[in-house]
Amino acid sequence: MIFVDQPDIDANDLLDRAARLRTRGAQAQSIPEYLRETVSAEYPHYSASFRPRSDQPLLSLSEAESDTMRDAYERFQRRSAHRRDRARIHETVEPTGSKCPYCGISEATQFDHFAPKKGKCPFPQFAILPTNLVYCCGHCNQLKASASHISLAHLPFLHPYFDREMMAGVELVVDLDVVSGNPTLDVQIRFGTHVPPNIAAIVESHYERLGLLLRLRRACVGELGSSVYVARASRLSIDMALDRHSSIAAAKLKTYGPWYWDACLQAALGTDESFWRQVLTG
Ligand SMILES: [Zn+2]
Repeated sequence: MIFVDQPDIDANDLLDRAARLRTRGAQAQSIPEYLRETVSAEYPHYSASFRPRSDQPLLSLSEAESDTMRDAYERFQRRSAHRRDRARIHETVEPTGSKCPYCGISEATQFDHFAPKKGKCPFPQFAILPTNLVYCCGHCNQLKASASHISLAHLPFLHPYFDREMMAGVELVVDLDVVSGNPTLDVQIRFGTHVPPNIAAIVESHYERLGLLLRLRRACVGELGSSVYVARASRLSIDMALDRHSSIAAAKLKTYGPWYWDACLQAALGTDESFWRQVLTG
């Protein structure tokens, strides 16, 4: 939920806000903490109006506020220093980590406008708001750009700043097997019983539109292949392989949180003794 509380807001004001957000965001321990303690400070209505997506649309501006923001964006585009200012906006948004927060697979290299600024259903009023800019990978950015949007209330993707809590109760399940000495795997998402159907629908849509299950499976196969290669080449015992992957899993979970695929995969590898028994002895 993004509100603009000043009718005469301009691009410079947004830049200053973004700079302050970044300073505070860098000190925050987690994205939810960053949102509650920093975004709410810059957007006074934010904390009072924050609800899960099930209750109200993620991004919302009154008609007058939207007009003001569109004007600010148009003025911003006309400025001769446009390019330099745009770079400043991008620099001031706190990146969500080196991995793309949409997929958790690839390295983040570019900015996506979560609510698109152009296309069939554009939202230029959010084009230069820091909270609408997401540092992500090119693959996700491209797939997101080709998706059609009906309205802000129905944006079919998870917003990394606002929607992380939706992943509570959602698990990535990695099914490991060994066929003729070669590791195989399947990846699925599984919803806990307390996940509301409308939340599950958004999560499913996010995974489907970004082709995430297939991309995760491919990424997992690559990771799995290199892990098995190292274990075989180093002639690790089953105990050593388990220890090695348990410690890698612990480090990745700490860094990325439980829903990143590689943390999930490493955790699975680090506890699946039968898997290592088969690849190392079979
Ligand atoms: Zn991505």
